Amino acid sequence: MAALLDGKKVASIIKEQLKKETAFLKEKGLGAPTLVSLCVGEDCGSTLYAKAQAQVALETGIDYRLIGFEKGISKESLIAEIKKLNNDPSVHGVIIQTPLPLGMKLRDVISFCSPLKDVEGMHPENLGQLVLENDFVAPCTAQACMELLKSYKIKLYGRDVVIVGHSEIIGKPLSLLMLKSLATTTVCHIATSEAKKLRDHVKRAQILVVAVGKPHLIKGAWIKKGAVVVDVGINRLKGKIVGDVEFKTAAKRASFITPVPGGVGPLTVLLLMKNTLELFKRAKGLS
Ligand code: NAP
Repeated sequence: MAALLDGKKVASIIKEQLKKETAFLKEKGLGAPTLVSLCVGEDCGSTLYAKAQAQVALETGIDYRLIGFEKGISKESLIAEIKKLNNDPSVHGVIIQTPLPLGMKLRDVISFCSPLKDVEGMHPENLGQLVLENDFVAPCTAQACMELLKSYKIKLYGRDVVIVGHSEIIGKPLSLLMLKSLATTTVCHIATSEAKKLRDHVKRAQILVVAVGKPHLIKGAWIKKGAVVVDVGINRLKGKIVGDVEFKTAAKRASFITPVPGGVGPLTVLLLMKNTLELFKRAKGLS
């Protein structure tokens, strides 16, 4: 039976480190790192992600501001708001919540955010830096997968890593982080499934990361014996939150596996705060 890759436990350790560091900076009179979260649509504050952000910010000593906009806001107006934040020295990190309304894509607006405040590492310049192996601010969920593997001392060098899903926020940046660790990296996507090759790739994965958003897409029987399984997927199924991997059967074959919930998720929000702190330190000339 696999051991759990316990994201909550790892997150609680990082949380304590962040708390200490923000308290120290405040004591030195340097102020608090400040994260602004932009959200388009009704009821921004009540979304699960915004609630988690506000709570973790409070716990880690990060000042958090949620700015909500009406669903009908134009792209130009949103960009104008982003530019205001770029010029506000009291703001160190900016995140744009997704999904955005139909017709507006994150990639169309994030390029107007200063790369020095792009806390999620989604600005084209920061994504480009990843290719050059500079992961100063990398997309938080991809970073969370790496952090979890590092915490459990999972070796990546020379191992067969298979990533399922190639989104801009998870699969693609994760593939670059894996390459930086010299893992032999394969990225699967919809065409892999359509070519009926997904199972074969999964079967040879020593480390499998799945970020698709389809409940139980990956069958437990496909998991290589002793593999490490990181399930990023968050899906609602019959009133329960489940991942993209069939947990019960996969856990019988894997050596390590993430629970869903409680795996990658708790780390993602925390790394958003860690990135805010890193951007703050860079803005103050401390790193
Ligand atoms: P996304 O943008 O919809 O991307 C999904 C990816 O899966 C795409 O690359 C898509 O490929 C691929 N895909 C779809 N169907 C497939 C199939 N049958 N076989 C192989 N690949 C397939 O989603 P996302 O934003 O990356 O999120 C993925 C999942 O992670 C979701 O469940 C989301 O809720 C979860 N998530 C979790 C966290 C966390 O902290 N735990 C954070 C963010 C997201 P094509 O583009 O080629 O169709």
